[in-house]
Amino acid sequence: MKDAIEMDLKAEVRSILGGLGVEASVLDAGDMASFSPVTGQQIASLAQDDAEATRTAIGRAADAFRIWRNVPAPRRGELVRLLGEELRAAKGDLGRLVSIEAGKSPSEGAGEVQEMIDICDFAVGLSRQLYGLTIATERPGHRMMETWHPLGVVGVISAFNFPVAVWCWNTALALVCGNPVVWKPSEKTPLTALACQAIVKRALARFGDAPDGLSQVVIGGRETGEALVDDPRVALVSATGSTRMGRQVGPKVAARFGRSILELGGNNAGIVCPSADLDMALRAIAFGAMGTAGQRCTTMRRLFVHDSIYDQLVPGLIKAYGSVSVGNPLTTQALVGPLVDRQAFEGMQAAIEAAKAEGGIVHGGTQVTDAAPEAAYYVKPALIEMPAQAGPVLEETFAPILYVMRYSNFDDVIEQHNAVGAGLSSSIFTTDLRESERFLSAAGSDCGIANVNIGTSGAEIGGAFGGEKETGGGRESGSDAWKAYMRRATNTINYSRALPLAQGVVFDI
Ligand code: NAD
Repeated sequence: MKDAIEMDLKAEVRSILGGLGVEASVLDAGDMASFSPVTGQQIASLAQDDAEATRTAIGRAADAFRIWRNVPAPRRGELVRLLGEELRAAKGDLGRLVSIEAGKSPSEGAGEVQEMIDICDFAVGLSRQLYGLTIATERPGHRMMETWHPLGVVGVISAFNFPVAVWCWNTALALVCGNPVVWKPSEKTPLTALACQAIVKRALARFGDAPDGLSQVVIGGRETGEALVDDPRVALVSATGSTRMGRQVGPKVAARFGRSILELGGNNAGIVCPSADLDMALRAIAFGAMGTAGQRCTTMRRLFVHDSIYDQLVPGLIKAYGSVSVGNPLTTQALVGPLVDRQAFEGMQAAIEAAKAEGGIVHGGTQVTDAAPEAAYYVKPALIEMPAQAGPVLEETFAPILYVMRYSNFDDVIEQHNAVGAGLSSSIFTTDLRESERFLSAAGSDCGIANVNIGTSGAEIGGAFGGEKETGGGRESGSDAWKAYMRRATNTINYSRALPLAQGVVFDI
């Protein structure tokens, strides 16, 4: 990993951002330090937007809304089509920047940008499909229908681990639905946000007549986010991050009767049944639990293995954990890159200690220090055999730890599976139709995502994404998630010469 120390990421970041049109001076404009987890090196120091600056941005967005809501939706879709084109052109640069700023492997960095392109394509089609229903009325000579209208300013608050895709899921839908966006990215990944804003600018320039303030970025930490959360002009707050953050944001938005989409933490589990294809399960579990260094909201964190196959599957998994490559994602083919920062490393170590105290047997989990830059945190993923689901197993630790437990009874394992606070993603490995259908049924997994014979991570944009319980209940991306970005009006039109009242009520004056 020595070459990591030698890499001049600062210069590379400047070159990528400069190429996209971000002024060099912005990168030294303030005191908000930005680091690369790959080397721990500081790569920029940005000026922050305080609450007042954020309110100014919201005001500009509110002005843009008055214009944008009247632009026909297919024309709004044209802007998103252009955004998709610009993202295709910038895919290499933006993917590389994601890898530098979030520590992802090149294929994961590029994959995240691909997800942005995919959602743009989806949203362009959607711009001609914002359908409402026509409803049979009980009154003669009347017609009843519902109409979907733009909602207002959308505030997006995003997490470090999907620094650009989550913004695009929201923005592509928000724009076709007629809404401007004010985005507060994670304070750990502001540079990718500046890059996205530069890419949007290119699309806007080609589009021609979009109002100013349609897409804005505000840089800062919690205080900047709070300004979005508290402002009644922000009709929808779409907040992605920890459950802790959601507990603060959700009640505040609700108190002002705003709308929120909360995409919070996960504690995702897999169940491996006696009939499972164990080779396939092993590969899916390895990717789901170790990929992105365990820093996906959908990372597999708990694994229930049937007693009868435990000794066939788990030793192989332990071997995979022992041999997985950990290293600099920019200069090596390593499958596991760095943790985002020291706090993440300490959180992981604390969870491992807590698991030991509960009787856990730990495989891996140690820091990889050979020639790693001092300020970067690389770890061997940890597989921990647990006697029971207790202590740290019940919570999300945002690091590569997989807790493995035995089960013997299918009803019990479904109970155990659902006995945690989070409800994001889940999967079962089985070739038994009864087990898989039961898992997907009302009496099965209680998560927003339930998979069969694939892992918990790696969702596609076509489906609605999100989870239940402490994951927040929000849905983004595909299916009918667009409805959260619009307001619904029910319209009744009387084309007769009479005035019949609903429910047969008589009121003759
Ligand atoms: P975090 O909660 O620390 O921060 C997320 C964002 O919220 C940041 O932009 C932060 O500045 C902002 N924020 C924090 N407190 C706030 C407040 N009181 N008011 C307004 N804004 C506030 O999360 P993180 O460490 O960046 O990301 C990891 C977490 O995100 C994990 O729990 C992960 O599971 C979750 N996540 C969930 C999804 C999902 O779709 N469900 C996707 C990605 C990440």
